[in-house]
Amino acid sequence: MSLNMTGKTAVVTGAGSGIGRQTAQRFAAEGASVVVADVDEDGGRQTVDTIASDGGEATFVETDVSEPDDVAEMVDTAVDTYGGLELAFNNAGIEGDWLSPTGQTDRADWDRVIDVNLTGIWECMKRELQVMSEGDGGAIVNTSSFAGQRAAGNSPYVASKHGVIGITRVAAREYADADIRVNAVLPGVIDTSMIDRAEEEAPEGVNVFVQRQPISRKGKPEEIANAVVWLSSEEASFITGNAYPVEGGYLST
Ligand code: NAD
Repeated sequence: MSLNMTGKTAVVTGAGSGIGRQTAQRFAAEGASVVVADVDEDGGRQTVDTIASDGGEATFVETDVSEPDDVAEMVDTAVDTYGGLELAFNNAGIEGDWLSPTGQTDRADWDRVIDVNLTGIWECMKRELQVMSEGDGGAIVNTSSFAGQRAAGNSPYVASKHGVIGITRVAAREYADADIRVNAVLPGVIDTSMIDRAEEEAPEGVNVFVQRQPISRKGKPEEIANAVVWLSSEEASFITGNAYPVEGGYLST
C-alpha cells in the first residue's frame, strides 16, 4: 500500500516525544515535509535531527499549543517554509494530576489540562482549517484517547479527551465540502514518557487498564503512528468525523 505524501506538508504537535515523534518520523518517511512543534526544544530538535539523518525534511518550531501566537507561528512556518499545509496531527497533551479524585482536583490543574488538551487542539484546528480551506483541502487527525469514551483517568483529562471527539465531529461536518477530512485517534495504553510517569505514581493503576485490553500489552508509539499516517492519506479518502480506536480492543469489552 502506498501512502506517498511527497510534496505535502504536515504539522505535528507534541512531536518532541512518544506518539508525536514517531508520527512525525513516519510522515517524513512517506515523503512529507514536517513542522515539528513542541514546548520541549531539546526533544523537538532531536526529532528533527533523526528525520534529517534518515534523509527527510523537517523544521522545529517551539510551540505551546495553548498560546494562540505560538500556534499562528507554527502554521505560518509551514506555509512560509514549505509553501502550504495539507496534513496536521494535533497531538500535544498532558495528563495532569492522575491521583486526585474530582472532589480534590485543583482548579489550576483543571485549567491547564483543558487549555493544552482541548483548547490547544481547537486553536490548532482553527488555524489549520483556515489555511487548508484556502488551499486544496487536507486531512487533520486529533489525539483523543480511550479516555475519550471511558472514565479512564482524572476528570480534567477525561473531559478534555471527550471534548476532542466532539470538536473533531463538528469540524468534519463543517469542512467536508472544502475537501478537508477531520478524524480523531483514540490510543490505548502506549509505552511513552506519559505512561512512565503514571507508572512511577501508580504502577498498579496502569496495569489494570492493560489487563482490560484483549491484547494485554502496552501499545507502541509506532502503532499509533501507523494509524494516523494512514488516516491522513488518500487511502482513507472516505473517512471523516471518525473516532478511531487503536487500543488493543479496550473499547470492545
Ligand atoms: P509524551 O509525554 O511522550 O509526549 C507528549 C509531548 O507533548 C511531549 O513532547 C511534550 O513536551 C509535548 N507537550 C506537552 N504540553 C505541550 C504544549 N502545551 N504544547 C506543545 N507541546 C506540548 O506522551 P504521549 O503518550 O506521546 O502523548 C501524546 C498524546 O497521546 C497526548 O495527547 C496523550 O494524552 C495521548 N494519549 C497517550 C496515551 C498513552 O498511553 N501514552 C494514551 C491515550 C492518549
